[in-house]
Amino acid sequence: MNQLLVSWYRQAARDLPWRRTRDPYAIWLSEIMLQQTRVETVIPYYYRFLEALPNVAALAEAEEALLHKLWEGLGYYSRVRNLQKAAKQVMTLYGGQIPTTCDQLLNLCGIGDYTAGAVASIAFGEAVPAVDGNVLRVVSRQLAAEGDILSPAVRRSCRQLLLEQMPADCPGELNQALMDLGATICLPNGFPKCESCPISGLCLARERGQQQLFPVKSPKKARESKPYTVLVIQDEQGRFLLRQRPDTGLLASLWEFPMLEGHLTRAELTGTLTKQDIQPARIQTLRKARHIFTHLEWEMTGYFLSCPQVKPRDGEVLATWEQIQQQYAMSSALDSYRQFIKQQGEDET
Ligand code: SF4
Repeated sequence: MNQLLVSWYRQAARDLPWRRTRDPYAIWLSEIMLQQTRVETVIPYYYRFLEALPNVAALAEAEEALLHKLWEGLGYYSRVRNLQKAAKQVMTLYGGQIPTTCDQLLNLCGIGDYTAGAVASIAFGEAVPAVDGNVLRVVSRQLAAEGDILSPAVRRSCRQLLLEQMPADCPGELNQALMDLGATICLPNGFPKCESCPISGLCLARERGQQQLFPVKSPKKARESKPYTVLVIQDEQGRFLLRQRPDTGLLASLWEFPMLEGHLTRAELTGTLTKQDIQPARIQTLRKARHIFTHLEWEMTGYFLSCPQVKPRDGEVLATWEQIQQQYAMSSALDSYRQFIKQQGEDET
């Protein structure tokens, strides 16, 4: 199977920027960015990040605000914070050299089995597997495996199986072949493209015509839905009120428009504003928006408040649209409301 996959990869590999380098820093960065994010989305971020922070030392010393700006829109911000923590570990524990083995890489913050295997095999040629969701799906179909693909035990046995088969001369290519096969042929939704698959002759699910039955997944728990009212508050100088989220938890340390729990009617909003001593000259209802996180979704309504006087409290700032773009990283969850103030700025010019 390995031979078939590697031969296929050598002639069909996707041409991706991080495949044109052996720089472990660039490969590591790409693997972190690719977690939960599509390749096409990652490419411009990858170039921008490397241009701003071209090596581990630069990453270790970067300001948090710059990190958040470079990551803005990619989501899952803990990834970039862990990336920097790991860069600091590399500087202090390994003299600025990224460790070369899977076991050592696992000691770094934010690096799990998959990333350690990918970096060790691709950048340093260590014969270890890199098992992500794509690889699990391919193996599960090929073996018609009955276990729940999300269970740690199934992941461990898949890793062990691949570990025993890793070729010493081209482990990085085999890992990338499996990743590419899962991403482009053995697709997750709909029917896989088995007619183009290099290992179709070795695939049990295909032999039995049961591709749709694998991988086996237990039903997911329903996502929790949280209602919020987003307040886009502008003072008479055209600045907007932002507040910084706590430094732990969801979207830690990112900036946001003030948000209130629940969907407030205009009358409820007016009552709340009076209590907070906010006196808007004009209130405009904004459109509803929804943002889906992994285990949670925000259902948002919004109001635009034009206020002659706005006094920021602790953790709040007043910022122009230009400053919001350049200095204050916000989650894409609030894109709909950011879009509103962008549009408003354009209408005023
Ligand atoms: S034959 Fe089809 S189901 Fe089996 S591994 Fe290939 S693409 Fe996936």
